[in-house]
Amino acid sequence: MGSGWNSRITGASRAQTSRLPANQQPKAGHAVTEVTCIRCGQQRPGIDSPPFRDELGTRIHENICQVCWDEWLQRQMQLINHYALDVRTPEARDFLRRNVEAFLFEVGDADGIDPSQQGKISW
Ligand SMILES: [Zn+2]
Repeated sequence: MGSGWNSRITGASRAQTSRLPANQQPKAGHAVTEVTCIRCGQQRPGIDSPPFRDELGTRIHENICQVCWDEWLQRQMQLINHYALDVRTPEARDFLRRNVEAFLFEVGDADGIDPSQQGKISW
């Protein structure tokens, strides 16, 4: 995982936003900025705020669009149901973080949803 591309893309999207005419500026208090989404490659509004308070959350906030994030939320719900995850446990959080990264940035291993594995989980 390199960190160089991250700051490069962030810089580009901020510069573009500031070039917008005043009447197209986002309303004050509404922090949604366009991002060039790493996953779908489109320039679209990003999500409101980082979903996690760490580097991964920042990376998602700056590089993933709302559309792809919504797709992940649906996928996340399927995974939670499929594996009967208790999201209050650290194990479930680790599991979802691993999968969110695989889903959005196509790195690491995603856990599939295999009907024959219903109810089973190996950490
Ligand atoms: Zn996207």
